[in-house]
Formats: sequence, C-alpha cells, structure tokens
Amino acid sequence: MGSGGVIKILLRFKDQWWTNTLGKDFTEMDFMFSDGEIRTWWTQYPLPYPILTGWIAGPHAEKLMGRSDGDILDMAMNSLLTIFKVPVDTLYQNLVRPMIANWPADPYARGAYSYTTPASHAARAEILKPVFGTIFFAGEALYEGKETATVEGALASGLSTATKILGV
Ligand SMILES: Cc1cc2nc3c(=O)[nH]c(=O)nc-3n(C[C@H](O)[C@H](O)[C@H](O)COP(=O)(O)OP(=O)(O)OC[C@H]3O[C@@H](n4cnc5c(N)ncnc54)[C@H](O)[C@@H]3O)c2cc1C
Repeated sequence: MGSGGVIKILLRFKDQWWTNTLGKDFTEMDFMFSDGEIRTWWTQYPLPYPILTGWIAGPHAEKLMGRSDGDILDMAMNSLLTIFKVPVDTLYQNLVRPMIANWPADPYARGAYSYTTPASHAARAEILKPVFGTIFFAGEALYEGKETATVEGALASGLSTATKILGV
C-alpha cells in the first residue's frame, strides 16, 4: 500500500490583500494554481476570512519534509510574491500568524493519504482478515471503492467492518 505526504501552509493575514492585485478583482477567487514553488493555494471564499492555504503533496512534500517550518514559510511567501507581485514588506507586515502542518515529518503520522499500488488489493484482503475473530481493522486505506483517501471511503470501510463484527 502506498502512503503519500502533504504539507499544508496556513497563513492568516490582517486583510485580504490579494483581492485587488495585478489590476484584477480576485474577490471571488477560491482556488489558484501557479507555477511558483508552492503551486496550489486556496482562500476561504465565500467566507470573508483573510487566510490563504498552500498545499504541497506527493513527492514534492517528501522532498521538502526535512526543511524547517521557517524555510517552508519563506518558500510560501516567495511563491505569493511571485504570483501577486506585491512588495515583500507589504506581505510580511500583513502576516498575522503562519501555521505549517508537515505531516510526512510528524512521527505520529508519517504521511497524509494512502494511495493504491498494484499490491494494494492483496494487502487489503490480508489486513481485513480478523485476528482471532476479535480484532478487526477499518479505515480509508482499506476501502476498495473509488473514494479512496477520503472521509467517505473511511466511513464506508467502517460500516463494512462493523457489519462484519455484528455478523449481519
Ligand atoms: C491534509 C489532509 C487533507 C484531507 N482532505 C480531505 C478532504 O478534503 N476530503 C476528504 O474526504 N478527505 C480528506 N482527507 C482524508 C481523510 O481525512 C482521511 O481519509 C480520513 O480521515 C481517514 O479516516 P480513518 O478513520 O481511516 O483514519 P483517521 O482519521 O486517521 O483515524 C485514525 C485514528 O486512530 C488514532 N490512532 C492511531 N494510532 C492509534 C493507536 N495506537 N491507538 C489508538 N488510536 C490510534 C488516530 O489518532 C486517529 O484518530 C484529508 C487528509 C489529509 C491528511
């Protein structure tokens, strides 16, 4: 079974400084994709909160997992500077609080999502066998349908295992 990483960067600003940049109206922007170091960003739209969320996933997250939170923050700010072409000082002075969730580096998580490999089907079948008829497993990585790596997949797997436990 595959396990992939995600690094999420949450930046809380004083105001939504990005809404009027590059001579455009970005008031209703929800997602943005860029060719900066951190490519994927989203806002809280339609909620009015001045928060931008940056997203690094897969091999890129694994490459950066050993970097400090300060380095990742600088990378995020540089990406925003590249995208919106605002002065560095304006951006840093507007920042209220950054938060970095580095899941691949977290010793209690060591990753974010499972993903399917050619060996996953056989691995799932093995893990789904109850141990001594008393210990049962469930979770997003053990779901066989299309919604792998989602809450829906985790719930469906939980339901299926609970049904097995009840013997119905
Ligand atoms: C960054 C990120 C963004 C995501 N975004 C989305 C999204 O937008 N939509 C979506 O549908 N899904 C999303 N997911 C995926 C979704 O969160 C997971 O698929 C889902 O939470 C998995 O549920 P689970 O019950 O299998 O596992 P978990 O939610 O991981 O639950 C496992 C639980 O077991 C506990 N645990 C672990 N070890 C032990 C132990 N030894 N003893 C006791 N307890 C233990 C853990 O603390 C945890 O509470 C996202 C995941 C990540 C990481």
